[in-house]
This record gives sequence, structure tokens and C-alpha cells, in this order.
Amino acid sequence: MAWRTRFAPAPTGYLHLGHVVNALHVWGLARAFGGEVLLRIEDHDRTRCRDEYEDALLDDLDWLGFAPDIGSTDSFRAARHDRAHAPRHTQRQSDNDARYAAALAALTACGLTYTCTCTRRDIARHAPRAPGEEPRYPGTCRDAHHADSESLARRARMADGDVPFDDGRLGPVQQSPAAQCGDVLVRDRHGQWTYQFAVVVDDMAHDIDVVIRGEDLLASTGRQLRLAAMLERQRPLSWWHHPLLVHPDGSKLSKANHDTSIRERRAAGAHAAGLLGEAAFLSGLLPAARDLSIDELPALFQSGVNAFSVS
Ligand code: GLU
Repeated sequence: MAWRTRFAPAPTGYLHLGHVVNALHVWGLARAFGGEVLLRIEDHDRTRCRDEYEDALLDDLDWLGFAPDIGSTDSFRAARHDRAHAPRHTQRQSDNDARYAAALAALTACGLTYTCTCTRRDIARHAPRAPGEEPRYPGTCRDAHHADSESLARRARMADGDVPFDDGRLGPVQQSPAAQCGDVLVRDRHGQWTYQFAVVVDDMAHDIDVVIRGEDLLASTGRQLRLAAMLERQRPLSWWHHPLLVHPDGSKLSKANHDTSIRERRAAGAHAAGLLGEAAFLSGLLPAARDLSIDELPALFQSGVNAFSVS
């Protein structure tokens, strides 16, 4: 039976070359090694996501030739954002509030979450950090027993100890969520579900076997595995963190470097094969930039990656 991975963009802006790099890995590994790709729209944060960005990313995916096996771009268009009348889409996060609420209720019933009244400033004051280190929640409200309320944040308790996992590209990795970030925010004080929580709940709901994403999300993996265990996920999950896109001079992709969206590149006359080849080159999948067709993706991975397996 085919294993399943996902492409899960957040419609907080237009698709750019970094997304194309991720899509090349997701579709490439799936097509090369018998996987199927599910499309999920990660618009859990309604303050930052916009419908016009979702429309644009669906359109850009079609234009680039990345066709999902589960959740066609048309199925998202059919489940419109006209929420009063439109059907829900099980793979769009803003349509699945009840799913996250049920997962939170399950954790809470086991005493694994608590209400947190800390502001960002409180946390910054209590947890001075070394340069480059991520903010760690110091646990101020852990034993405070504040009453639950939709207008207060909720955190999940991270037990002490290491979380080991194998990355398909990087090998064995060990992380310690309690030391890295402390108790994970599940819902913020505006009632928004957080990325960390929604992604774990959805990867379970969608029967995802392999998560293929950029190395910028590597630090999230331990805490996501811990949350999945707390939610009693049974299905094994494998990981593949790929390199991020860099310019030939080694500098990172950024707006300051005039890196433009796929939308702008299209408007300026770019063609899909040219952009696919450029993204493949800038992420180390091709030795030089050239036109690349979607049909060539399996070969890119079959030659360089020979030990990919789904446990
Ligand atoms: N939605 C996330 C992003 O656009 C990706 C989530 C994931 O791959 O875990 O960065």
C-alpha cells in the first residue's frame, strides 16, 4: 500500500521558490518511492492568512504541475471561504475547528494541559535566553490552576527527557522539548490554534506516514512527536528534513535579496520548467540550473537517495 506524505503551505503570502523546493522534495520522494501526496491548507491563524493567497497558491501549484493525490486544487476551490454556504474541506485547517477542540479536550481530560495567563513580555522577562536560542516557556502557570476560558491561552505539558527520532536524510537526532521550548502553546489567547498543535492533530487525522519539510522546522519535530504520543498516535511517523534554498553565493533566500514570488515571476514571463529547475539547482538537487519537467522528479531522487524507506 502507498505511504502518504503531505504538502502543507500556509496562505500567509504568495508561493515563492522556497515552497517550490519543498514541493520538489515532497512530490519527488513520493513519486520515486511509491508515496501519495495530500494537500493541506494550513490557515489555522486567521489573522495572518488571506483567501486571496490561498487562491493564488492553488493556481500556482496547477501552473507548476504539482498535482496532489488527495485533495485536488479544485476540491479546495469548491469548498469556498464563503463559510455561510460552502461545504467544509477536511484538509483546510480553518474548516476544522472541532477537530482541534476535540483533541484539546482529550489532552485536558488526562490533565495534560493548563490555562496560561502569561503575556509575551512576562515570558521574555522570566526566561532570558542566549543568542540564537529559542524562547522557552518557564512554566509560570503550570501549577496555578487558572480556570479555562476561550479568551485565555492553553498549554500542553512537555515531560522532561529526550525524544529520539531518525531523519531519512540526517540520521539519528535527539531533542529535548522541555528544555528547548518548555510547555507548548496549543491555543493562544485569541482562540487561535497554534501551528504545533494543529499540525500534529492533522498529521494523525490524515494518516500521514512521512513528513517531508525544510530543515528550518527540524527543531519542531521532537515536540510534535511528544504531542503525538500524548494524543496516543499509534501509526509510525518518519521524517525527512531537506536543505533550504540558498543563492549560489551561499546567502539565504530573502526579500532583501529581491527574491520574488512565483506570481511575480510568472507575470514577468517565467515558465514552469525554468522555475522548477532553478529551485532544484538552488537547493542542491541539480548541479546546474536548467529546465526541469515534473516527470523528471523521481529520477532526481532515485540517483542520489538510495536508502529511503518508510518504517
Ligand atoms: N505550514 C508550514 C509552513 O508553511 C509547514 C508545516 C510542516 O511541514 O510541518 O511552513
